[in-house]
Parts: sequence; C-alpha cells; structure tokens
Amino acid sequence: MSKHFDFAVIGVGSFGAWTAHFLHHSGASVILLDAYGPANSRASSGGETRIIRMGYGPDELYTRWAMHSLPHWRDLGERTGRKIFHQTGVLWLSNDADTYLQNLHRVLGNAGVKQERLTSDEIQQRWPQLHFPDVTWGVLEPESGLLMARSSVPALVAELVNSGVEYRTAAVAVPNANARLAQINLSTGDSIAAGTFIFACGSWLPKVFPQLLQNRIFPTRQEVFFLGPQPGDRSFQPPHMPAWLQRTHPDLPYALPDIENRGFKIAFDRHGDAFDPDSGSRVATQASLDQLRAYLKLHVPALANAPVVETRVCQYENTWNGDFLIDRHPELENVWIAGGGSGHGFKHGPALGEYLCSRILYGIPAEPRFSLAAKQTEQQRSIY
Ligand SMILES: Cc1cc2nc3c(=O)[nH]c(=O)nc-3n(C[C@H](O)[C@H](O)[C@H](O)COP(=O)(O)OP(=O)(O)OC[C@H]3O[C@@H](n4cnc5c(N)ncnc54)[C@H](O)[C@@H]3O)c2cc1C
Repeated sequence: MSKHFDFAVIGVGSFGAWTAHFLHHSGASVILLDAYGPANSRASSGGETRIIRMGYGPDELYTRWAMHSLPHWRDLGERTGRKIFHQTGVLWLSNDADTYLQNLHRVLGNAGVKQERLTSDEIQQRWPQLHFPDVTWGVLEPESGLLMARSSVPALVAELVNSGVEYRTAAVAVPNANARLAQINLSTGDSIAAGTFIFACGSWLPKVFPQLLQNRIFPTRQEVFFLGPQPGDRSFQPPHMPAWLQRTHPDLPYALPDIENRGFKIAFDRHGDAFDPDSGSRVATQASLDQLRAYLKLHVPALANAPVVETRVCQYENTWNGDFLIDRHPELENVWIAGGGSGHGFKHGPALGEYLCSRILYGIPAEPRFSLAAKQTEQQRSIY
C-alpha cells in the first residue's frame, strides 16, 4: 500500500519550503514535490540573491512580516553553517514629494526598525560612486540586506529531508476532483495520497488552476544584469555600497552590491511583458542592455561601460495589486493555494509558511488581503 502523508506541498520555492518547515515542526508528515527541483533556474526563488528590507511605504503588514522573517533566515544560516543573510544595509532614495518614503520612515519608526534619515549631501558623501541629482533624501535600513536565494532554499530542503520530510522531483498533474482531493498524479506515473494539499507553484499557478487563476496571477518577464567592476575595485562590494532602490525613476531601478564576486546586480522593478515560466526565453535583450547603459551613465558612471558578467531572466507572479494569495481552494476543501509573491515575496517565506500552517492547523483568523475573494482581475499595482 502506498504511503499516506498528512500534507503534500507542491512547489518548492521560498513559499513551499518554508510552509513545509512549519508543518513538519508541528509533527505532521510532509512530502515536497517540484517539477524542476527546489529553487530551480525557472523558479522565482532561483535567483542568486534577493533583498530583505523592512520598508514597505505605508504597509505595516509587510513590514511586520519582513521583521518576523529575518530571524528565521538568520537561524537557517546558523543551523546549516551557510552564509544565507548578508547585512549590507538597504538604502531608499527619493524626493520630498514621495509620500511612500515619508510613510515608510514613519512605519519603520513605529515598528522599532533601526533606520537613518539622510540628506542628498550625506548620500553623495557616503557613496560617491552613485549619482542621483533628483534625489533629495533617503532612508537607510542598516540592519537589512540580502538573502542568498537559490542556495538557501535547497539548504532548507536538505535540512527537512534529513529530519524525515520526503522530497521528490516530479511534475504534478492538474488536479481533477470534486469537493475533496484524494490524491495527485505525478509525471513519473506515481500518485500521492495526502490529507491536505498545498499548491505553492509560483507563476505556474494559473496553469495548475486555469479557471480560477488565469486572470488573477499575471507572470511577467523580468531581466537582471550583473556587471563586472574594474580589477581590484571594491567600491561596489559591501560595506562600500548597500543595496539601493531609486524611487524617483519611473522604471524603479534597484541594485545589489557585488556578493561572492558575482558582480554588481541591477534591474528595473517595472513589470515586463507576459511570460511563460516553462518555455519563455531567458536570454536578455540588447534593447534592455542599451537602456541599462543609458541609466548607468547618469547614475553609476564607473559602470557605464562595464562588461556584463551574467544576465538572468526571471518572472514575477503578480496579483492584481501585489498582495499575496494565501487561501483555501473555493471548491476543494483540503486544497490550499499559496502564491502571488508579486516581485517581493522571497523574503517573506518564513512569515508566510508560519501563517499558512497556523491557518490550516489552528484556524487562526484569515487576513482578508490574502484571500482569493480580494483578488481582482485588472492589474493595478499598489504594493511595492
Ligand atoms: C528578478 C526578480 C527579483 C526579485 N527580487 C526580490 C527581492 O529582492 N526580494 C524579495 O523578497 N522577493 C523578490 N522577488 C520575488 C520572489 O523571488 C518571489 O516572490 C518568490 O521567490 C516566490 O516564491 P514561490 O515559492 O511562490 O515561487 P517559485 O520560487 O517560483 O516556486 C514555485 C515552484 O513550483 C514548481 N512547480 C510549478 N508547477 C508545478 C507542478 N505542476 N508540479 C510540481 N512543481 C511545480 C516550480 O518548479 C517552482 O520551483 C524577485 C523576483 C524576481 C523574478
């Protein structure tokens, strides 16, 4: 007779892996499944690094979740003996008209997050390698930084497997059931029976639940560039440069310092074209590089002509406004959905996993913003 699990978690990115962690620690039996492997090259969690910042403008909910998540990432690093979190600092750059930054400053203050308010002169003096003529002030989160994304998820999975969680590489077929799902069918020909199924399939969720989510999760193509500084130049490495986000530019550029000698990382946070996570082209375009060079010439002149040492094309899995989707399936009582990371979800894996586990096991009240009912079908981004 095949084994029966309390929980099957489908999709092993930040959301699925951390959900499995909390379920496992409750004493439940858990199996993890992923079509391509934990934090694979197609997954949103498969990027080299991800920013963990506490600032979310007026949005205290995500500030609290990021604050709650950071110690879990630190602990994972300590338990696994890996450098998962780099405290590089995160610098917000904006102008006096930006209410987002004013609110961020207020919310961080109320939440007790360490921050420094900086004038444009102070920014210029501290980071002379950066030039932002239209920036009038900034906020530095000195205790925030970067997570080693693609290595941290497999590290968490290895830890889970060592303590009894099962993991399998297999694609899970679109579930077909009424009222209750008894089992899922795998690309390997096997099937898995479980009491509860959690689909944390990132930008694949509209493929898994086409009727429900085709118009509620919008995967977009996002390009990332790594640039190689001059030989011996350390000015783009920590502690000489923090991660930074420029809010005065319409394309919302953000950059990460050169970590583990991979190069200075830069991307634009504006949403790209619609994207298929299985088969979409992951080759960055010349047009994007030309646009990036024009930007660098003005703002990071030392890197304007720097060689591209690596590029990546990844995808955001956007909900209409950027709020996560964490809810029970409306027709299948033992199926839950966790996704909609919307370009900012990675850092929140621990808070999300704990929330979902507590919703399922202990029936804690649902946060209405995460519900399926709150998900509209027209995109109108409001969470950054
Ligand atoms: C360029 C870029 C920059 C970003 N920057 C940041 C940042 O700085 N900070 C931050 O916090 N977040 C950031 N994000 C967002 C963050 O990476 C995502 O929100 C987060 O990784 C989503 O994790 P996930 O577990 O929901 O999905 P994913 O990591 O995509 O995982 C989903 C998994 O499901 C699997 N799967 C799908 N369908 C099936 C199936 N049928 N059967 C089995 N397995 C299946 C896939 O193989 C995949 O591994 C960024 C995203 C991108 C693309």
